[in-house]
Amino acid sequence: MIYCQRCGHELDGHEKYCPSCGKPTEYGFNSATKSSGDEGGFGWSLLGFCVPIVGLVLYLVWKDERPVTARDSLRGFIAYLIFLGFAIVVYVIFAISILGNLNYPYGP
Ligand SMILES: [Zn+2]
Repeated sequence: MIYCQRCGHELDGHEKYCPSCGKPTEYGFNSATKSSGDEGGFGWSLLGFCVPIVGLVLYLVWKDERPVTARDSLRGFIAYLIFLGFAIVVYVIFAISILGNLNYPYGP
């Protein structure tokens, strides 16, 4: 037996809303998220990583309507930014080491 999280009314487990106070139950919440197709997933993160601008746009469009999918899309976008930052750091270190060698082209 489960009880309403807000008012403690006894629920039989398949009501979408508490008959006493109207709060959506866990069952109602789960079926609502499934019916809206807002499941997110690794595919959305991968899309945000491979095509970061799409990940960012999806987040802005869906952040209210499909928050789970929007969050996963943004996660891919953030992963891309981290990857890009890492790549730039590696490139700069590589460039500095080459420039350092050019300063002494003839050696001793
Ligand atoms: Zn209630």
